[in-house]
Amino acid sequence: KCGYVALIGRPNVGKSTLMNHLLGQKISITSRKPQTTRHRILGINTTETGQAIYVDTPGMHDNEKRALNRYLNRTAETTLVGVEVIVWLIDGLSWQPYDDLIFKKLEQAGLPVILAVNKVDKIKDRETLLAFFAEAQQRFAFEHIIPISALKKTNLQQLEKLVMELL
Ligand code: GDP
Ligand code: MG
Repeated sequence: KCGYVALIGRPNVGKSTLMNHLLGQKISITSRKPQTTRHRILGINTTETGQAIYVDTPGMHDNEKRALNRYLNRTAETTLVGVEVIVWLIDGLSWQPYDDLIFKKLEQAGLPVILAVNKVDKIKDRETLLAFFAEAQQRFAFEHIIPISALKKTNLQQLEKLVMELL
């Protein structure tokens, strides 16, 4: 299995930390799938079952108004050409109106979205977290919602597994 995974999230949610902990040793891409040069490759996670090529998607990870407008001027289908799975990374407990707009676009793209709720090591109140999951699940058709800590490496193997299953 091998394919492109868009890692999307606002600045500071932990994308770099996650990538640093997910990256496999092999840096060569074995995929014969068409390249998507519009994307920046963040890294390649090589596991026993395959390779997930994590890419940055322009205009979707920036909270700036201008970037949002740029993004909204583009169809989600065009932006996500060649991508098979979306990992949407958010900071636990912080869900902003901006996220809703992006999710609506992502739903239109018809790609599976994994919501990874990061920094759960900081979250002491489990009830609040569970309520957050329930609410998120009601509003959007996520393929999976998974709590992780990129910093403490909590649940990262489970996230890898979910991604591979969808490739
Ligand atoms: P990016 O802007 O999305 O690439 O975010 P970074 O990976 O640079 O992380 C932003 C800040 O959040 C840094 O100070 C990280 O150490 C911190 N951070 C990232 N992941 C976690 C996590 O799982 N738990 C906690 N407590 N902090 C985290
Ligand atoms: Mg970063």
